[in-house]
Amino acid sequence: MTLRFLVTGGAGFIGSAVVRKLIGEHEHAVCVVDKLTYAGNLASLAPVSGSNRYRFERADIGDGERMKAIFADFEPDIVMHLAAESHVDRSIDGPAAFIETNVVGSFTLLQEALRHFRSLTGERRARFRFHHVSTDEVFGSLGPEGLFREDSAYQPNSPYSASKAASDHLVRAWHHTYGLPVVMTNCSNNYGPYHFPEKLIPLMIINALEGKPLPVYGNGLNVRDWLYVDDHAEALITVATAGKTGESYNIGGHNERTNLEVVKTICAILDELRPDPKGSRERLITHVDDRPGHDARYAIDAGKIGRELGWAPKETFETGLRRTVAWYLANPRWWGDIRSGVYRGERLGAA
Ligand code: NAD
Repeated sequence: MTLRFLVTGGAGFIGSAVVRKLIGEHEHAVCVVDKLTYAGNLASLAPVSGSNRYRFERADIGDGERMKAIFADFEPDIVMHLAAESHVDRSIDGPAAFIETNVVGSFTLLQEALRHFRSLTGERRARFRFHHVSTDEVFGSLGPEGLFREDSAYQPNSPYSASKAASDHLVRAWHHTYGLPVVMTNCSNNYGPYHFPEKLIPLMIINALEGKPLPVYGNGLNVRDWLYVDDHAEALITVATAGKTGESYNIGGHNERTNLEVVKTICAILDELRPDPKGSRERLITHVDDRPGHDARYAIDAGKIGRELGWAPKETFETGLRRTVAWYLANPRWWGDIRSGVYRGERLGAA
């Protein structure tokens, strides 16, 4: 069945992967709503922008009047809410934008989604969903053992994770209080093509290619659970279309790695695919001051989405990382435009 998806943040890293899938691999119609902040990039949507099932609205989710008009005009069946300020380091330097977009913007969007839902009848009303896309960082930091489950306590530590936790709570409340049909997901760290080069993996790939230092925070032993972005996009579409209303699902790839392991693996793949006459890129690894309040470990128990909705990731960390490095090697134009413009690789969030 062809559904109408309103995707907020669709010009971002994960949103654009979702939109490329919805248009390229499914028959659905998509309206992207994106403010095009520094992180939004229409070049990431170029593969699908010629489709007659795709449209783009440049708008701020915090602009209630615009949201109202877009809902009335596009009449979505499913809202996938990804628009957010997403970088922990930036949230340390400037938390206000995170409260504006992630908390107040999500509230405004919820109000307009509810207004739209209340106007629906029959089958359109029965199939309407608001899907809130969130992060495992809301659960705080783990010790060496244990996994985040859907019922883990919320303990956000950074301004970013606190703002995402706040939006998760608003979404839950709009379901319980107003009956808005919502589904929620909390995912581990993503990586893959079209990833903005302020984030660990693309920053390391590009710096290594340019022979620049590879800045590892602290001792490099912080652990993240990595998921290839297309696997996340598939999981999101599965939850948006088949998830049980009112439920949340954890998404993760069972790929725990220390930051140092991640950087060393990138060096090894690059050394193989594009050898450096000066020797292994590991020589470029430089330890820098740690991120303030740096969470030690995140790891996801993704059992529920596997058992109940049949989702499993297709990529291992090794296959996904190889694909990612190959994509950055093949697409210097995409990241070159960013590196010469809005973000040149400087340290953020040292507080
Ligand atoms: P991103 O920063 O790459 O993209 C965010 C997009 O939202 C950008 O296109 C930006 O222009 C847009 N945007 C920002 N503020 C907006 C506003 N006020 N109105 C409209 N559009 C706005 O982020 P991402 O990595 O693609 O993450 C997408 C979502 O997934 C976020 O909600 C994030 O919290 C969540 N998430 C990310 C990860 C990860 O590893 N990247 C993991 C789990 C969950």
